[in-house]
Amino acid sequence: MIIKTKFPFSPSSTPSTLTNLTLQLPPTTTRSRVAEQTCLTLLNSCTTLTTLTQIHTLILKLGLINNPLVLTKFAATSSTFNAIHYATSFLFSDDPTTAPRASSFDAFLFNTLIRAFAHTPQSKSSGLQLYRTMLRYGVVPNKFTYPFVLKACAGLSDLRLGKAVHGSVVKFGFDDDLHVQNTMIHMYCCCCCGSGEGKEEGEGVELAGKVFDESPKTDSVTWSAMIGGYARRGHSSRAVGLFREMQVMGVCPDEITMVSVLTACADLGALELGKWLESYIEWKKIPKSVELCNALIDMFAKCGDVDKAMNLFRQMDSCTIVSWTSVIVGLAMHGRGSEAVSLFDEMVEQGVEPDDVSFIGVLSACCHSKLVDKGRSYFNSMEGNFGIVPKIEHYGCMVDLLSRAGFVKEALDFVRTMPVEPNQIIWRSIITACHARGELKLGESISKELLRNEPTHESNYVLLSNIYAKLRRWEQKTKVREMMDMRGMKKVPGSTMIELNNEMCEFVAGDKSHDQYKQIYEMVDEMGREIKRAGYVPTTSQVLLDIDEEDKEDALYKHSEKLAIAFALLNTPPGTPIRIVKNLRVCEDCHSATKFISKVYNREIVVRDRNRFHHFKNGLCSCGDFW
Ligand code: ZN
Ligand code: ZN
Repeated sequence: MIIKTKFPFSPSSTPSTLTNLTLQLPPTTTRSRVAEQTCLTLLNSCTTLTTLTQIHTLILKLGLINNPLVLTKFAATSSTFNAIHYATSFLFSDDPTTAPRASSFDAFLFNTLIRAFAHTPQSKSSGLQLYRTMLRYGVVPNKFTYPFVLKACAGLSDLRLGKAVHGSVVKFGFDDDLHVQNTMIHMYCCCCCGSGEGKEEGEGVELAGKVFDESPKTDSVTWSAMIGGYARRGHSSRAVGLFREMQVMGVCPDEITMVSVLTACADLGALELGKWLESYIEWKKIPKSVELCNALIDMFAKCGDVDKAMNLFRQMDSCTIVSWTSVIVGLAMHGRGSEAVSLFDEMVEQGVEPDDVSFIGVLSACCHSKLVDKGRSYFNSMEGNFGIVPKIEHYGCMVDLLSRAGFVKEALDFVRTMPVEPNQIIWRSIITACHARGELKLGESISKELLRNEPTHESNYVLLSNIYAKLRRWEQKTKVREMMDMRGMKKVPGSTMIELNNEMCEFVAGDKSHDQYKQIYEMVDEMGREIKRAGYVPTTSQVLLDIDEEDKEDALYKHSEKLAIAFALLNTPPGTPIRIVKNLRVCEDCHSATKFISKVYNREIVVRDRNRFHHFKNGLCSCGDFW
């Protein structure tokens, strides 16, 4: 009697004696164990959908449809060869005779499914649907559930959804889990990417910052997530600042942290910092993966040392298409078009299949170096030789190539015959070309059309206003400006950054915020006198033209790059090269003035503007006055 009470059976089903029990149960258990093991072994070696469907039939035949272990393994196996949809359709089938019972589902199974969907780009939302199903089935999530769910939110860039999931994390008490915190930071940083306009933009990063502040900050992954988030969102100074803080806290960065810091450094154009980061990687013996090498190459190219980028590229044991493309784009930005083109050819010769990004690289190289025929032939080879259907970006490169080379009419014909709808960027590059080549009537009509279609984009007004200025139709120009003011639109202010003594200084036009501002303005005046003596004539039409790079009320000499150059002349020993980064295109006058400054003060001046690099030396610029 004592033994019997230990069995959790109801009295009616209770075996009369222990002997009976041992006689009845083991064969069934053994049989089901054998069946379970058979299925698990078959699933282990399964690699095709056909085999998977056969195993599915077997599961039904052997009565294992409610075996959680088999179901989880089935889901995991199907996810390894993109058959996760097959698994879910069977697991959640409407047919009660073939579908598993809800009680067979556990957190493990759901985690497997959600993870599989988080890694399937075309089914981003399915992971979240499964998470909802999980809650509906009454299955309690565990700490492994949320990283996958948060990853799915990140993939969708949906901030509202992310916040709701954050709420559940707190509700189920996983907000202290380090891995959950790390993915939460990553999720919030991604949710501002691509979620679009206005306030939403900054909100995600700020929320990520909040989670970061509340985390223990002992793990490099946490720092990497936050630094990476800042870098991706273009908060490069904050990314670098946080990296410094990480060092103060004594947390050792890993390879992923370094890739993010290098990205931020590349964006800032801070070469000295970049060099320091490179030696830091050596010193800390951080493993140089292909990704890290690619980030170093990209950083050196964008910070102005494309030769160093090239050296690093040549030293790589194995490189990817990204490595090739980084150097090709780097060379293009520096106006070294023919080198970029031969590197592209070398890549193809070595059997590396070009992708659409590398084509954008080589086409922009042709564009910056006026290699019109080369550009045409690359463009034509895309589909014919490599089966890559040109995208709008490639068409944009071609339009830019033709317009910059002065073939405005041909560019327009190209736009009219291209199979994709031209976007506003393409129209704007044609208008810019019309402006530069004196095709003002044409420019005016396209600008007006563009304004009608896209009345909220401020550069459309600026383009039209510039055309009126060149036509000397001041009244119409004023009207356009008034329309802009009425709609509360402002131009992006021009700003220039310069790195000095481990610090990035930023100057905006007419800036008086710097401690040294009096000396800086005195230096600007002196520069003006010296270069005039050397033959410089101010391009005063720039002020009247009100080109989109600077505010019209700012006199030429207050342009931010002139302030930055004066600051550098004041604070660096004679002969030191000056490197500056401008957020917009360099205006004609600053370009001409910089050429004279490089000669009069005997300084090499490297300017990165929105489009490319200008290397000023001894009165000349590497762009050949074409940018
Ligand atoms: Zn300027
Ligand atoms: Zn130039």
